[in-house]
Amino acid sequence: MKYISTRGNAPAKTFTEILLGGLAPDGGLYLPEQYPQVTRAELDAWRKLSYADLAFAVLSKFATDIPVADLKAIVDKTYTAAVYSNGRADSDFSQITPLRKLDDNVFILELSNGPTLAFKDMAMQLLGNLFEYALAKQNEELNIFGATSGDTGSAAEYAMRGKKGIRVFMLSPNGKMSAFQRAQMYSLQDPNIFNIAINGMFDDAQDMVKAVSNDHAFKAKYKIGTVNSINWARVSAQIVYYFKGYFAATQSNDEHVAFSVPSGNFGNICAGHIARMMGLPIGQLILATNENDVLDEFFRTGVYRPRDTRHTYETSSPSMDISKASNFERFVFDLVGRDGAKVREFWSKVDAGGSFDIKDTPYWDNLPKFDFASGKSTHQDRLKTIRELWEEYGVMVDTHTADGLKVGLEQRRPSLPLVCLETALPAKFAETIQEALGRQPERPAKLEGIENLPQRCEVMDADVEKLKAYISAHVPQ
Ligand SMILES: *Cc1c(COP(=O)(O)O)cnc(C)c1O
Repeated sequence: MKYISTRGNAPAKTFTEILLGGLAPDGGLYLPEQYPQVTRAELDAWRKLSYADLAFAVLSKFATDIPVADLKAIVDKTYTAAVYSNGRADSDFSQITPLRKLDDNVFILELSNGPTLAFKDMAMQLLGNLFEYALAKQNEELNIFGATSGDTGSAAEYAMRGKKGIRVFMLSPNGKMSAFQRAQMYSLQDPNIFNIAINGMFDDAQDMVKAVSNDHAFKAKYKIGTVNSINWARVSAQIVYYFKGYFAATQSNDEHVAFSVPSGNFGNICAGHIARMMGLPIGQLILATNENDVLDEFFRTGVYRPRDTRHTYETSSPSMDISKASNFERFVFDLVGRDGAKVREFWSKVDAGGSFDIKDTPYWDNLPKFDFASGKSTHQDRLKTIRELWEEYGVMVDTHTADGLKVGLEQRRPSLPLVCLETALPAKFAETIQEALGRQPERPAKLEGIENLPQRCEVMDADVEKLKAYISAHVPQ
Protein backbone atom coordinates (compact mmCIF):
# COMPACT_ATOMS: atom_id res chain seq x y z
CA MET A 1 0.00 0.00 0.00
CA LYS A 2 1.38 3.35 -1.07
CA TYR A 3 0.19 6.80 -0.02
CA ILE A 4 -0.25 9.75 -2.33
CA SER A 5 -0.75 13.46 -1.72
CA THR A 6 -4.13 15.17 -2.14
CA ARG A 7 -2.31 17.82 -4.18
CA GLY A 8 -0.91 15.30 -6.60
CA ASN A 9 2.68 16.54 -6.66
CA ALA A 10 4.57 14.37 -4.20
CA PRO A 11 6.18 10.95 -4.51
CA ALA A 12 4.18 7.98 -3.20
CA LYS A 13 5.28 6.73 0.22
CA THR A 14 4.70 3.77 2.52
CA PHE A 15 2.86 3.78 5.87
CA THR A 16 6.03 3.94 7.97
CA GLU A 17 7.53 6.57 5.70
CA ILE A 18 4.64 8.93 6.45
CA LEU A 19 4.16 7.82 10.06
CA LEU A 20 6.49 10.34 11.67
CA GLY A 21 5.95 13.22 9.24
CA GLY A 22 3.20 15.76 8.67
CA LEU A 23 2.13 17.30 5.39
CA ALA A 24 3.34 15.94 2.06
CA PRO A 25 6.12 18.08 0.51
CA ASP A 26 3.58 19.67 -1.90
CA GLY A 27 1.48 20.87 1.04
CA GLY A 28 -1.15 18.14 0.64
CA LEU A 29 -2.29 15.35 2.92
CA TYR A 30 -1.53 11.68 2.41
CA LEU A 31 -4.20 9.16 1.46
CA PRO A 32 -4.01 5.55 0.25
CA GLU A 33 -3.55 5.24 -3.52
CA GLN A 34 -6.79 3.26 -3.44
CA TYR A 35 -8.95 2.39 -0.47
CA PRO A 36 -8.58 -1.27 0.43
CA GLN A 37 -11.87 -3.12 -0.01
CA VAL A 38 -13.48 -5.32 2.61
CA THR A 39 -15.33 -8.34 1.20
CA ARG A 40 -18.59 -9.68 2.55
CA ALA A 41 -16.76 -12.77 3.79
CA GLU A 42 -14.31 -10.55 5.69
CA LEU A 43 -17.14 -8.51 7.19
CA ASP A 44 -18.83 -11.70 8.37
CA ALA A 45 -15.60 -12.90 9.98
CA TRP A 46 -14.77 -9.49 11.49
CA ARG A 47 -18.14 -9.29 13.23
CA LYS A 48 -16.93 -11.79 15.83
CA LEU A 49 -13.54 -10.22 16.54
CA SER A 50 -12.34 -8.53 19.71
CA TYR A 51 -11.41 -4.86 19.39
CA ALA A 52 -7.68 -5.61 19.21
CA ASP A 53 -8.16 -8.32 16.59
CA LEU A 54 -10.43 -6.07 14.57
CA ALA A 55 -7.88 -3.25 14.79
CA PHE A 56 -5.25 -5.67 13.53
CA ALA A 57 -7.48 -6.76 10.64
CA VAL A 58 -8.24 -3.18 9.59
CA LEU A 59 -4.75 -1.77 10.10
CA SER A 60 -3.14 -4.70 8.24
CA LYS A 61 -4.73 -3.28 5.11
CA PHE A 62 -3.01 0.07 5.63
CA ALA A 63 0.29 -0.61 7.42
CA THR A 64 1.46 -3.14 4.88
CA ASP A 65 5.15 -2.42 5.47
CA ILE A 66 5.06 -3.40 9.15
CA PRO A 67 5.67 -7.14 9.67
CA VAL A 68 2.37 -8.71 10.75
CA ALA A 69 3.71 -10.14 14.01
CA ASP A 70 5.00 -6.69 14.99
CA LEU A 71 1.74 -4.98 14.11
CA LYS A 72 -0.20 -7.58 16.07
CA ALA A 73 1.98 -7.03 19.15
CA ILE A 74 1.58 -3.23 18.91
CA VAL A 75 -2.19 -3.43 18.57
CA ASP A 76 -2.54 -5.99 21.39
CA LYS A 77 -0.50 -3.80 23.69
CA THR A 78 -2.62 -0.74 22.81
CA TYR A 79 -6.23 -1.88 23.00
CA THR A 80 -6.62 -3.36 26.48
CA ALA A 81 -9.42 -2.90 28.98
CA ALA A 82 -6.82 -1.66 31.48
CA VAL A 83 -5.94 1.29 29.21
CA TYR A 84 -9.56 2.00 28.22
CA SER A 85 -11.47 1.89 31.52
CA ASN A 86 -9.73 4.15 34.05
CA GLY A 87 -10.49 1.65 36.77
CA ARG A 88 -14.25 1.84 36.17
CA ALA A 89 -16.51 -1.20 36.09
CA ASP A 90 -19.84 0.31 35.01
CA SER A 91 -19.65 -0.74 31.37
CA ASP A 92 -18.28 -3.69 29.41
CA PHE A 93 -14.79 -2.32 28.97
CA SER A 94 -13.54 -5.55 27.43
CA GLN A 95 -15.29 -4.16 24.31
CA ILE A 96 -12.92 -1.12 24.46
CA THR A 97 -15.70 0.94 22.81
CA PRO A 98 -18.91 -0.27 24.52
CA LEU A 99 -22.17 0.54 22.78
CA ARG A 100 -24.83 2.06 25.00
CA LYS A 101 -28.41 1.67 23.91
CA LEU A 102 -30.69 4.67 24.47
CA ASP A 103 -33.71 3.59 22.45
CA ASP A 104 -34.51 0.79 20.04
CA ASN A 105 -32.68 2.52 17.27
CA VAL A 106 -30.45 5.07 19.00
CA PHE A 107 -27.05 4.26 20.45
CA ILE A 108 -24.03 5.99 21.93
CA LEU A 109 -20.64 4.53 21.02
CA GLU A 110 -18.35 5.12 24.01
CA LEU A 111 -15.01 6.31 22.70
CA SER A 112 -13.87 8.26 25.74
CA ASN A 113 -12.79 5.70 28.27
CA GLY A 114 -9.06 6.17 27.66
CA PRO A 115 -6.61 7.94 29.99
CA THR A 116 -7.61 11.52 29.08
CA LEU A 117 -11.37 10.88 28.84
CA ALA A 118 -11.69 11.87 25.18
CA PHE A 119 -11.84 9.91 21.93
CA LYS A 120 -8.42 11.24 20.92
CA ASP A 121 -6.95 8.48 23.09
CA MET A 122 -8.34 5.88 20.67
CA ALA A 123 -5.79 6.88 18.04
CA MET A 124 -3.12 8.60 20.10
CA GLN A 125 -2.36 5.55 22.27
CA LEU A 126 -1.70 3.55 19.11
CA LEU A 127 0.45 6.36 17.74
CA GLY A 128 2.62 6.28 20.88
CA ASN A 129 3.34 2.59 20.40
CA LEU A 130 3.85 2.93 16.63
CA PHE A 131 6.27 5.82 17.11
CA GLU A 132 8.30 3.95 19.73
CA TYR A 133 8.48 0.92 17.42
CA ALA A 134 9.44 2.87 14.29
CA LEU A 135 12.05 5.01 16.08
CA ALA A 136 13.71 1.96 17.66
CA LYS A 137 13.92 0.31 14.23
CA GLN A 138 15.51 3.36 12.66
CA ASN A 139 17.67 3.98 15.72
CA GLU A 140 16.23 7.49 15.80
CA GLU A 141 14.77 9.92 18.28
CA LEU A 142 11.88 12.36 17.98
CA ASN A 143 10.96 15.44 19.96
CA ILE A 144 7.28 16.11 19.72
CA PHE A 145 6.46 19.74 19.94
CA GLY A 146 3.11 21.48 20.04
CA ALA A 147 0.72 23.88 21.74
CA THR A 148 -2.51 22.89 23.40
CA SER A 149 -5.48 24.48 25.06
CA GLY A 150 -6.23 21.14 26.72
CA ASP A 151 -7.38 18.07 24.81
CA THR A 152 -4.82 17.19 22.17
CA GLY A 153 -1.80 17.98 24.30
CA SER A 154 -2.89 15.81 27.16
CA ALA A 155 -3.80 12.91 24.84
CA ALA A 156 -0.33 13.19 23.26
CA GLU A 157 1.42 13.25 26.63
CA TYR A 158 -0.45 10.22 27.95
CA ALA A 159 0.35 8.36 24.73
CA MET A 160 4.06 9.23 24.72
CA ARG A 161 4.91 9.14 28.44
CA GLY A 162 7.74 6.75 29.19
CA LYS A 163 8.25 5.91 25.51
CA LYS A 164 11.85 5.31 24.45
CA GLY A 165 13.31 7.72 21.92
CA ILE A 166 10.52 10.26 22.37
CA ARG A 167 10.28 13.51 24.27
CA VAL A 168 7.24 15.76 24.37
CA PHE A 169 7.53 19.55 24.68
CA MET A 170 4.00 20.89 25.10
CA LEU A 171 3.15 24.57 25.41
CA SER A 172 -0.01 25.64 27.17
CA PRO A 173 -1.37 29.06 28.18
CA ASN A 174 -0.38 29.68 31.81
CA GLY A 175 -3.42 29.73 34.07
CA LYS A 176 -5.93 29.52 31.20
CA MET A 177 -6.84 25.84 31.42
CA SER A 178 -9.21 24.36 33.99
CA ALA A 179 -7.75 23.03 37.25
CA PHE A 180 -8.56 19.51 36.05
CA GLN A 181 -6.81 19.98 32.70
CA ARG A 182 -3.74 21.46 34.40
CA ALA A 183 -3.62 18.58 36.84
CA GLN A 184 -3.97 16.05 34.04
CA MET A 185 -0.93 17.39 32.23
CA TYR A 186 1.30 18.90 34.88
CA SER A 187 1.05 15.97 37.30
CA LEU A 188 2.90 13.73 34.83
CA GLN A 189 6.30 13.03 36.35
CA ASP A 190 7.77 11.10 33.42
CA PRO A 191 11.19 12.52 32.57
CA ASN A 192 10.37 12.57 28.83
CA ILE A 193 7.40 14.93 29.27
CA PHE A 194 8.07 18.68 29.37
CA ASN A 195 5.15 20.98 30.09
CA ILE A 196 5.82 24.63 29.36
CA ALA A 197 3.25 27.13 30.60
CA ILE A 198 3.46 30.30 28.52
CA ASN A 199 2.56 33.66 30.04
CA GLY A 200 -0.05 34.54 27.41
CA MET A 201 -3.00 33.12 25.54
CA PHE A 202 -3.25 29.95 23.48
CA ASP A 203 -2.57 31.93 20.30
CA ASP A 204 0.73 33.19 21.75
CA ALA A 205 1.78 29.62 22.44
CA GLN A 206 0.68 28.60 18.94
CA ASP A 207 2.70 31.45 17.42
CA MET A 208 5.80 30.27 19.28
CA VAL A 209 5.32 26.79 17.88
CA LYS A 210 5.05 28.22 14.38
CA ALA A 211 8.16 30.38 14.87
CA VAL A 212 10.22 27.38 15.98
CA SER A 213 8.80 25.17 13.21
CA ASN A 214 9.71 27.76 10.60
CA ASP A 215 13.33 27.62 11.71
CA HIS A 216 14.12 24.58 9.56
CA ALA A 217 17.72 24.25 10.72
CA PHE A 218 16.67 24.20 14.37
CA LYS A 219 13.87 21.78 13.60
CA ALA A 220 16.21 19.36 11.85
CA LYS A 221 18.98 19.65 14.44
CA TYR A 222 16.64 18.88 17.33
CA LYS A 223 14.53 16.30 15.42
CA ILE A 224 11.29 18.13 16.03
CA GLY A 225 7.98 16.64 14.95
CA THR A 226 4.29 16.97 15.70
CA VAL A 227 1.29 14.74 16.33
CA ASN A 228 -1.50 16.85 14.87
CA SER A 229 -4.78 15.56 13.56
CA ILE A 230 -3.67 15.24 9.92
CA ASN A 231 -1.38 12.35 10.89
CA TRP A 232 -2.48 9.45 8.72
CA ALA A 233 -1.92 6.79 11.40
CA ARG A 234 -4.35 8.65 13.66
CA VAL A 235 -7.01 8.67 10.97
CA SER A 236 -6.49 4.98 10.21
CA ALA A 237 -6.80 4.04 13.90
CA GLN A 238 -10.14 5.85 13.98
CA ILE A 239 -11.52 3.76 11.11
CA VAL A 240 -11.53 0.73 13.42
CA TYR A 241 -14.27 1.92 15.77
CA TYR A 242 -16.68 2.58 12.91
CA PHE A 243 -16.47 -1.15 12.15
CA LYS A 244 -16.77 -2.04 15.83
CA GLY A 245 -19.73 0.30 16.33
CA TYR A 246 -21.47 -1.01 13.22
CA PHE A 247 -21.16 -4.63 14.35
CA ALA A 248 -22.38 -3.79 17.85
CA ALA A 249 -25.45 -1.91 16.58
CA THR A 250 -26.57 -4.49 13.98
CA GLN A 251 -27.46 -8.18 13.77
CA SER A 252 -26.18 -8.82 10.26
CA ASN A 253 -24.09 -7.22 7.56
CA ASP A 254 -27.19 -6.65 5.43
CA GLU A 255 -28.16 -3.70 7.62
CA HIS A 256 -27.13 -0.07 7.25
CA VAL A 257 -26.58 2.44 10.05
CA ALA A 258 -26.12 6.19 10.42
CA PHE A 259 -23.24 7.65 12.42
CA SER A 260 -23.43 11.08 13.99
CA VAL A 261 -20.07 12.75 14.60
CA PRO A 262 -19.26 15.90 16.61
CA SER A 263 -16.75 17.52 14.27
CA GLY A 264 -13.95 20.06 14.38
CA ASN A 265 -10.98 19.24 12.18
CA PHE A 266 -12.92 16.62 10.20
CA GLY A 267 -10.53 13.88 11.40
CA ASN A 268 -13.07 11.67 13.11
CA ILE A 269 -15.71 11.81 10.40
CA CYS A 270 -13.06 11.44 7.69
CA ALA A 271 -12.33 8.02 9.20
CA GLY A 272 -16.05 7.22 8.86
CA HIS A 273 -15.99 8.28 5.24
CA ILE A 274 -13.03 5.98 4.59
CA ALA A 275 -14.67 3.06 6.44
CA ARG A 276 -17.64 3.47 4.11
CA MET A 277 -15.40 3.69 1.03
CA MET A 278 -13.89 0.37 2.16
CA GLY A 279 -17.32 -1.22 2.03
CA LEU A 280 -18.72 -0.85 5.55
CA PRO A 281 -22.51 -0.47 5.14
CA ILE A 282 -22.85 3.03 6.52
CA GLY A 283 -26.01 4.77 5.33
CA GLN A 284 -25.62 8.32 6.47
CA LEU A 285 -22.69 10.20 7.97
CA ILE A 286 -24.08 13.08 10.00
CA LEU A 287 -21.69 15.92 10.74
CA ALA A 288 -22.42 18.10 13.77
CA THR A 289 -20.78 21.45 14.44
CA ASN A 290 -21.20 23.94 17.25
CA GLU A 291 -21.52 27.69 16.63
CA ASN A 292 -18.34 27.40 14.54
CA ASP A 293 -20.25 26.02 11.58
CA VAL A 294 -17.81 26.22 8.66
CA LEU A 295 -18.36 22.53 7.80
CA ASP A 296 -22.14 22.65 8.16
CA GLU A 297 -22.10 25.61 5.80
CA PHE A 298 -20.20 23.59 3.20
CA PHE A 299 -22.57 20.64 3.23
CA ARG A 300 -25.61 22.92 3.04
CA THR A 301 -24.39 25.46 0.49
CA GLY A 302 -21.28 24.14 -1.26
CA VAL A 303 -19.18 27.03 0.05
CA TYR A 304 -16.08 26.26 2.10
CA ARG A 305 -15.18 29.46 3.84
CA PRO A 306 -12.69 29.13 6.72
CA ARG A 307 -12.92 31.88 9.33
CA ASP A 308 -10.28 34.09 10.87
CA THR A 309 -9.66 34.02 14.62
CA ARG A 310 -11.93 37.01 15.13
CA HIS A 311 -14.82 34.94 13.76
CA THR A 312 -13.95 31.79 15.67
CA TYR A 313 -16.10 31.68 18.77
CA GLU A 314 -15.24 30.29 22.18
CA THR A 315 -18.00 27.86 23.00
CA SER A 316 -18.93 25.30 25.64
CA SER A 317 -17.82 22.53 23.25
CA PRO A 318 -14.31 23.98 22.94
CA SER A 319 -12.68 21.06 21.11
CA MET A 320 -14.84 21.92 18.11
CA ASP A 321 -13.90 25.61 18.10
CA ILE A 322 -12.10 25.48 14.78
CA SER A 323 -12.09 27.88 11.90
CA LYS A 324 -10.34 25.68 9.37
CA ALA A 325 -10.87 21.92 9.21
CA SER A 326 -7.42 20.49 8.59
CA ASN A 327 -8.58 17.04 7.40
CA PHE A 328 -11.33 18.31 5.13
CA GLU A 329 -8.97 18.33 2.14
CA ARG A 330 -8.94 14.52 2.29
CA PHE A 331 -12.66 14.33 1.64
CA VAL A 332 -12.58 16.99 -1.05
CA PHE A 333 -9.90 14.99 -2.87
CA ASP A 334 -12.38 12.10 -3.16
CA LEU A 335 -15.26 14.44 -3.99
CA VAL A 336 -13.40 15.89 -7.00
CA GLY A 337 -12.57 12.43 -8.29
CA ARG A 338 -9.04 12.48 -6.83
CA ASP A 339 -7.98 15.32 -9.09
CA GLY A 340 -4.93 16.80 -7.34
CA ALA A 341 -4.88 19.83 -9.65
CA LYS A 342 -8.44 20.69 -8.60
CA VAL A 343 -7.50 20.40 -4.91
CA ARG A 344 -4.49 22.64 -5.53
CA GLU A 345 -6.76 25.20 -7.17
CA PHE A 346 -9.24 25.17 -4.26
CA TRP A 347 -6.57 25.33 -1.59
CA SER A 348 -4.62 28.08 -3.30
CA LYS A 349 -7.70 30.14 -2.42
CA VAL A 350 -8.02 28.74 1.10
CA ASP A 351 -4.31 29.18 1.86
CA ALA A 352 -4.58 32.82 0.76
CA GLY A 353 -7.36 33.38 3.29
CA GLY A 354 -10.21 32.94 0.81
CA SER A 355 -12.93 30.39 0.12
CA PHE A 356 -14.20 28.14 -2.67
CA ASP A 357 -17.66 27.27 -3.90
CA ILE A 358 -18.65 24.01 -5.58
CA LYS A 359 -22.30 24.92 -6.11
CA ASP A 360 -22.00 25.51 -9.85
CA THR A 361 -19.65 22.62 -10.51
CA PRO A 362 -20.36 18.94 -11.22
CA TYR A 363 -18.97 18.21 -7.72
CA TRP A 364 -22.12 19.58 -6.14
CA ASP A 365 -24.17 16.98 -8.01
CA ASN A 366 -21.68 14.37 -6.86
CA LEU A 367 -22.05 15.24 -3.19
CA PRO A 368 -25.32 13.33 -2.47
CA LYS A 369 -23.58 10.14 -3.57
CA PHE A 370 -21.40 10.45 -0.46
CA ASP A 371 -24.50 10.67 1.75
CA PHE A 372 -23.51 13.27 4.31
CA ALA A 373 -25.97 15.29 6.35
CA SER A 374 -25.04 18.17 8.61
CA GLY A 375 -26.35 20.56 11.19
CA LYS A 376 -25.27 22.82 14.01
CA SER A 377 -25.90 22.97 17.72
CA THR A 378 -25.65 26.00 20.01
CA HIS A 379 -25.02 26.45 23.72
CA GLN A 380 -28.78 26.40 24.42
CA ASP A 381 -29.14 23.21 22.34
CA ARG A 382 -26.36 21.58 24.34
CA LEU A 383 -27.96 22.42 27.68
CA LYS A 384 -31.30 21.10 26.43
CA THR A 385 -29.84 17.86 25.08
CA ILE A 386 -27.80 17.22 28.23
CA ARG A 387 -30.96 17.73 30.32
CA GLU A 388 -33.14 15.53 28.14
CA LEU A 389 -30.66 12.66 28.14
CA TRP A 390 -30.32 12.89 31.89
CA GLU A 391 -34.03 13.05 32.56
CA GLU A 392 -35.16 10.45 30.03
CA TYR A 393 -32.37 7.91 30.25
CA GLY A 394 -30.29 8.78 33.32
CA VAL A 395 -27.34 9.15 30.93
CA MET A 396 -24.92 12.05 31.31
CA VAL A 397 -23.20 13.23 28.15
CA ASP A 398 -20.56 15.86 27.61
CA THR A 399 -21.10 19.02 25.56
CA HIS A 400 -19.53 17.72 22.31
CA THR A 401 -21.46 14.47 22.39
CA ALA A 402 -24.59 16.54 23.02
CA ASP A 403 -23.94 18.46 19.79
CA GLY A 404 -23.72 15.15 17.93
CA LEU A 405 -26.91 13.81 19.49
CA LYS A 406 -28.87 16.95 18.73
CA VAL A 407 -27.87 17.05 15.08
CA GLY A 408 -28.01 13.27 14.66
CA LEU A 409 -31.58 13.01 15.91
CA GLU A 410 -32.59 15.93 13.73
CA GLN A 411 -30.92 14.76 10.50
CA ARG A 412 -31.19 10.96 10.55
CA ARG A 413 -33.36 9.04 8.16
CA PRO A 414 -35.83 7.22 10.43
CA SER A 415 -35.18 3.90 8.71
CA LEU A 416 -31.56 3.85 9.90
CA PRO A 417 -30.33 2.96 13.40
CA LEU A 418 -28.37 5.94 14.68
CA VAL A 419 -24.97 5.55 16.36
CA CYS A 420 -23.81 8.77 18.06
CA LEU A 421 -20.09 8.95 18.73
CA GLU A 422 -19.22 9.99 22.28
CA THR A 423 -16.12 12.15 22.01
CA ALA A 424 -15.48 13.05 25.67
CA LEU A 425 -16.74 12.30 29.16
CA PRO A 426 -18.80 14.93 31.02
CA ALA A 427 -16.17 15.01 33.80
CA LYS A 428 -14.02 17.13 31.49
CA PHE A 429 -16.64 19.85 31.16
CA ALA A 430 -18.00 20.14 34.67
CA GLU A 431 -18.94 23.81 34.38
CA THR A 432 -21.50 23.30 31.61
CA ILE A 433 -22.84 20.13 33.23
CA GLN A 434 -23.40 22.17 36.39
CA GLU A 435 -25.21 24.79 34.33
CA ALA A 436 -27.42 22.20 32.62
CA LEU A 437 -28.15 19.87 35.50
CA GLY A 438 -27.31 21.75 38.69
CA ARG A 439 -24.92 19.00 39.69
CA GLN A 440 -21.35 17.93 39.13
CA PRO A 441 -20.47 15.10 36.73
CA GLU A 442 -18.99 11.93 38.11
CA ARG A 443 -15.34 11.33 37.63
CA PRO A 444 -13.68 7.93 37.11
CA ALA A 445 -12.31 6.79 40.48
CA LYS A 446 -8.77 6.80 39.13
CA LEU A 447 -8.93 10.57 38.61
CA GLU A 448 -10.46 11.55 41.95
CA GLY A 449 -8.29 14.14 43.66
CA ILE A 450 -5.92 14.48 40.70
CA GLU A 451 -5.74 18.22 41.45
CA ASN A 452 -3.90 17.43 44.70
CA LEU A 453 -1.01 15.60 43.06
CA PRO A 454 2.35 17.37 42.84
CA GLN A 455 2.73 19.26 39.55
CA ARG A 456 5.76 19.85 37.38
CA CYS A 457 5.91 22.53 34.72
CA GLU A 458 8.17 25.28 33.41
CA VAL A 459 6.65 28.76 33.36
CA MET A 460 8.03 30.91 30.53
CA ASP A 461 7.40 34.27 28.89
CA ALA A 462 6.29 34.23 25.24
CA ASP A 463 9.88 34.51 24.03
CA VAL A 464 10.95 32.26 21.16
CA GLU A 465 14.68 32.47 22.01
CA LYS A 466 14.05 31.32 25.58
CA LEU A 467 12.00 28.44 24.24
CA LYS A 468 14.75 27.37 21.87
CA ALA A 469 17.30 27.56 24.67
CA TYR A 470 15.05 25.39 26.83
CA ILE A 471 14.71 22.76 24.12
CA SER A 472 18.41 22.64 23.37
CA ALA A 473 19.18 22.31 27.06
CA HIS A 474 16.89 19.29 27.33
CA VAL A 475 17.77 17.45 24.14
CA PRO A 476 21.13 15.68 24.47
CA GLN A 477 23.32 16.26 21.43
C1 LIG B 1 -11.01 16.73 18.88
C2 LIG B 1 -12.42 16.65 19.38
C3 LIG B 1 -13.53 16.76 18.51
C4 LIG B 1 -13.39 17.05 17.03
O1 LIG B 1 -12.86 15.96 16.33
P1 LIG B 1 -12.26 16.16 14.86
O2 LIG B 1 -11.59 14.91 14.54
O3 LIG B 1 -11.30 17.32 14.97
O4 LIG B 1 -13.41 16.49 13.95
C5 LIG B 1 -14.80 16.61 19.06
N1 LIG B 1 -14.98 16.41 20.39
C6 LIG B 1 -13.94 16.30 21.23
C7 LIG B 1 -14.21 16.11 22.68
C8 LIG B 1 -12.63 16.42 20.77
O5 LIG B 1 -11.60 16.33 21.64
